[in-house]
Amino acid sequence: ELWMRVQIVLLLMAFSLFAMFMLSRHQRIWNKLNKYKREFENIVDQRTIDMNLTNSLLREEIEERQKIEEKLIQLATIDPLTSIPNRRKFDEVLEYEMNRDTRYKNKLALIFCDLDYFKKINDRYGHKIGDDVLKAFTRVVSENIRKTDVIARWGGEEFAILLPETSIMIAARTAEKLRKETERFGFPHVGHVTASFGVTQYVEGDSEASLINRADDALYKAKKNGRNRVELMTPVSAAKIVSYDTKPVSYTNLTLP
Ligand code: GH3
Ligand code: MG
Ligand code: MG
Repeated sequence: ELWMRVQIVLLLMAFSLFAMFMLSRHQRIWNKLNKYKREFENIVDQRTIDMNLTNSLLREEIEERQKIEEKLIQLATIDPLTSIPNRRKFDEVLEYEMNRDTRYKNKLALIFCDLDYFKKINDRYGHKIGDDVLKAFTRVVSENIRKTDVIARWGGEEFAILLPETSIMIAARTAEKLRKETERFGFPHVGHVTASFGVTQYVEGDSEASLINRADDALYKAKKNGRNRVELMTPVSAAKIVSYDTKPVSYTNLTLP
């Protein structure tokens, strides 16, 4: 019986030792796991910080690129002196409006205008004052056309104005208004300056070149007939446009209704 008891005590002691061993092993594993967890969390935190930094750098880069892109578009489409569309942009708008007019037949008019004796202004007052006249003239025109009309710098002291949904007669009235407003405007340093205007209207069958040539011819006529005036070049018919047949009509000092 004594031996039995000794055996039981020994068994209990062995079991206790085993349990203590298992507990301490579990504790060690638990500590290790906690350590790994903390290390893992640190890595995740660090990665999150890195990612946020990369994201904000990317955002900055995207914004920078967008600004450069906008600047490039502006440089490619806006005349730097007058801040109005340049000839390239005008060509785009013209093509779009010609297609729209072919589809909807709402009439589309084109005005070409050119400052009179501008070379003399440059020669007398210098290029800088000449530039100021160009800027002021742009303002005079912009303030006297519809928001839907598009003025562009065609080159030098020549400008093109596209008037969507406008007949040649209404465009002629607009040109006459612009002529009068220019004539009575006090240009800084220079005083009075005049401009000549050529007006035409798009008809189906016109190419961009035939339409522009017609406006240019009308402008040429305005110059030839004494400047500071409006001339119209009406397309005779769509069929004849191909052979470039036009009918000139002169209007000087048109009376506005
Ligand atoms: P016209 O009445 O026949 O149009 O005569 P004009 O003197 O206006 O025309 P011309 O073509 O003989 O001269 C145009 C002048 O415009 C010559 C050129 O030096 C000047 N010019 C062209 N671009 C600019 C510019 O950006 N700034 C300035 N200040 N002058 C310019
Ligand atoms: Mg001129
Ligand atoms: Mg010119």
